[in-house]
Amino acid sequence: MKLKAPESVFSSASFCPGCGHGLAGRLIGEVAEELGIEHKLVTVVDVACCSFHIDYWKFDTIMAAHGRDIPTAVGVKHVRPDSAVMAYMGDGAAYAIGMAETIHAALRNDNICVFVINNSVFGMTGGQMAPTSLPGERTATSPKGKDPARYGTMSGLELVKQMDVAYVARGELIGSSGMVRAKTLIRKAFTHQLNGDGFSLVELLSPCPTNLNLPPVKAKAFVHDEMTKYFPLGEFVDKGGNV
Ligand code: SF4
Repeated sequence: MKLKAPESVFSSASFCPGCGHGLAGRLIGEVAEELGIEHKLVTVVDVACCSFHIDYWKFDTIMAAHGRDIPTAVGVKHVRPDSAVMAYMGDGAAYAIGMAETIHAALRNDNICVFVINNSVFGMTGGQMAPTSLPGERTATSPKGKDPARYGTMSGLELVKQMDVAYVARGELIGSSGMVRAKTLIRKAFTHQLNGDGFSLVELLSPCPTNLNLPPVKAKAFVHDEMTKYFPLGEFVDKGGNV
């Protein structure tokens, strides 16, 4: 007998074992259902591993050119102002090739949600060093470890949080408490957009066991124990809130 798939805005995913993308997608799906926006949500995904969501989310979804999903989402919001619009990407798209797009959307306080999955490497293209790679982190292009004397480590979130935007927060896709917290951050970002407050950026620290060359449990420990030293968790901007 063939089993009928459960009706949901999120179906099963096939990311690498231990990857955080599937968790983030699930949380976004849950929040969209709980807020009742699943039928008016337009998602824009970057190329790279995050693009797998185009097959899994049952939302209207667009795949943009690498690093260009924020301006694509802004365009959708301008022509469909009643839609809820989000851009979803990795740290490479948001803070490397797409850094200018991230900064200028924040400067304009465009009324969209941006979700950045920060796993400290370029994932799909082979695990190259990223702006978010930690000092000493071994990547495909830094096999001896990232040399901090030559390359800095930064997240674009640190720039965006200085601007007049609606919401900026960072969570981690690690453990049950991290997941509950991440879902709260996602919900607050969407709520700000529905209130017309402007630009929201939620960064979620996430394991990439494949490119870290670590088993999933150790990759999670890397995120929780090492990445959070450079990328502290918290809410940094919350328009109308108490941050
Ligand atoms: S390569 Fe990394 S980011 Fe991409 S699906 Fe695998 S674990 Fe996830």
